[in-house]
Amino acid sequence: MLAAHVLSEHADVTVIERDTLPTIPHGRRGTPQDRHTHVLVSGGARALDSLMPSLTAEVTARGARHIPLPTDYLQHSAGGWLRRLPEMQYILGCSRPLLEWAIRDRLRRNTAVVIREDTDAVGLTTEHGRVTGARIQDRATGKAELLHAALVVDATGRTSHLGQWLTELSMAPIPEVAIDPRLFYATRIYRAPKLVSTRFPAVNIQADPDAPQGRRSGLLMPIEDGLWSVTMTGSRGNEPGTSADKFIAAARRLPHPVIADLLDAAEPLGPAAGFRPDANRKKLLTRGATPPGLLVIGDAATVFNPVYGHGMAVAALGAVALRDELIRYGLNPQHTWKIQRKISAAGDTAWRMATSQDLLYTSTTGSSGRLFGVRLQHRFQQRLARAGTDAIAAASLAVYTLSEPVSRLGAPRVLLDALRGGPQELHAEPPFTSTERQVFG
Ligand SMILES: Cc1cc2nc3c(=O)[nH]c(=O)nc-3n(C[C@H](O)[C@H](O)[C@H](O)COP(=O)(O)OP(=O)(O)OC[C@H]3O[C@@H](n4cnc5c(N)ncnc54)[C@H](O)[C@@H]3O)c2cc1C
Repeated sequence: MLAAHVLSEHADVTVIERDTLPTIPHGRRGTPQDRHTHVLVSGGARALDSLMPSLTAEVTARGARHIPLPTDYLQHSAGGWLRRLPEMQYILGCSRPLLEWAIRDRLRRNTAVVIREDTDAVGLTTEHGRVTGARIQDRATGKAELLHAALVVDATGRTSHLGQWLTELSMAPIPEVAIDPRLFYATRIYRAPKLVSTRFPAVNIQADPDAPQGRRSGLLMPIEDGLWSVTMTGSRGNEPGTSADKFIAAARRLPHPVIADLLDAAEPLGPAAGFRPDANRKKLLTRGATPPGLLVIGDAATVFNPVYGHGMAVAALGAVALRDELIRYGLNPQHTWKIQRKISAAGDTAWRMATSQDLLYTSTTGSSGRLFGVRLQHRFQQRLARAGTDAIAAASLAVYTLSEPVSRLGAPRVLLDALRGGPQELHAEPPFTSTERQVFG
């Protein structure tokens, strides 16, 4: 949707969408992940606003929560609960259908964009090795059609069939790298207890790579309409169940039981939904591997372990890269590889973070060639966490929210603090305010 919005500055755009798109914020079949907690980190929120001005303000006016980090984000990592400090970054807490609907609503008002719903993209057309259009098929009638285009963008998400489409044209599929944390997700929506103020914090209990019982984490995210979106995650053998009892049991098994205690006071709305994402998966979209006239963006290019909450932000940052590079190169198919290079680079920080963290767990499969470097980096992160000064918190949050590149962690102030600072004082119990604590009765 964001790519279509950007491209409409240069040409008429046709979006091919297999679903019937709801006219209100509502889940749909083509995006089964929309039943799960979706946070938008501030780097992604700013990117979104630069593409569609005031979009996040509009979503906030409809009830999305602006959650200041680390002020209203209680985080348990190995050893205890981190301090609450004044706002350094933020996340937007809302349901995925609300955010997607707001973006789509803007796009629907764009007269240069036509959305063809209930239509499958089923392949590509090429001439002399250049992509010249897409093969599409109406889902209701089965009628097939060729759509010619100056540029084709694959934005079909994590189920992209691009490899198959290229193979059908006797072209080499694009090589991929996969690092699979083999996690299972379960999410349930709750109505927050009446006593909870509109500023109730998010609660995040992180997994610990050194914990002998394996990988388990949990997130309680306040969203619109006084709801909590609650997600449990576990590796093989630690999978959270989706039945009411098993979901709560998974919350109780986390390194701290506070999420389970909060859920005891809340009202569940509907059953939990499960999801087994396949991997961190990246297409190596190099000049030689990508035919002219084709761009790949969002999850179709790189899929991230959702536990880090970066996929939507990377899609937005990729659309910003697309906007900026189109100004330089236009729609000339000979230059698409240069545009692709920048779109792919927009996901580099998130990819490094997700894969280097996932590789610390023995349950992860995939490239182990980086293990030495990853362990060294982990030592450095442990050192940063131990020191935990305000400068370190600011740098870590800037990187986590994709507001700044990983190199921010190498700033002299951060390195000095890492050497001299700490150990920071961690709380044994979640640092709720007395007002927030009333929720426990
Ligand atoms: C469990 C889970 C939790 C997540 N949590 C977060 C989070 O907290 N924060 C975050 O930033 N990201 C999160 N993500 C990732 C996020 O969902 C994706 O990164 C994001 O949706 C990518 O956007 P996209 O437009 O590339 O793909 P999608 O949003 O998946 O959109 C793809 C679109 O293409 C359509 N389509 C697919 N194939 C075809 C076809 N052949 N023809 C026509 N139409 C087609 C689909 O119907 C859909 O509309 C999570 C993902 C999962 C699985």
